[in-house]
Amino acid sequence: MGRQTHTACIALGANIGEPVRQIEAGFAALAALPDTRLAARSSLYRSAAVGYTDQPDFINAVAVIETALLPHALLAALLDIERAQGRVRDFANAPRTLDLDILLYGDVVMHEPGLTIPHARMLERAFVLVPLAEVAPEAFVPGHGRVRDLAAGADAGSVARLQRMPA
Ligand code: ADP
Ligand code: MG
Repeated sequence: MGRQTHTACIALGANIGEPVRQIEAGFAALAALPDTRLAARSSLYRSAAVGYTDQPDFINAVAVIETALLPHALLAALLDIERAQGRVRDFANAPRTLDLDILLYGDVVMHEPGLTIPHARMLERAFVLVPLAEVAPEAFVPGHGRVRDLAAGADAGSVARLQRMPA
């Protein structure tokens, strides 16, 4: 790769169409990004929708990537993947075929109109913290602490790990 790489954690979520298949496709698309390696993938989890609750359950997961893409380029690439998988943005918290969020990017802290890192709502979301703790328990959320400790305070009962599909 040549350029310096960074470790980033990406949340994947889907709740319409075939969510499990779409999350799997999301992992594959992350692995195929330029200058990027898929370092770890969590189990898949099921959670009830929050915010606008009259919609199907979500399937959630977290990927750890090693990437030379800088944060804005990474976000643009994630939005491209979402679009390629047919996501239509209707309204906040609407059902979606695939949602990809940057949770952490090394120890970067940034607050810009289109990009906030660490992800603004990750600390309130058990469906993020539980899969994140599976793959990156030692990671630090700048200003907040270690993922393992943050996940210990999450409502893990709202998130169910899926059984592995037989191969
Ligand atoms: P959400 O993921 O909160 O349900 P969206 O996926 O519709 O909502 O995201 C809306 C916008 O959030 C994106 O277009 C992006 O510019 C912005 N955004 C800000 N910070 C982040 C981040 N860390 N990861 C992904 N998107 C982000
Ligand atoms: Mg998003």
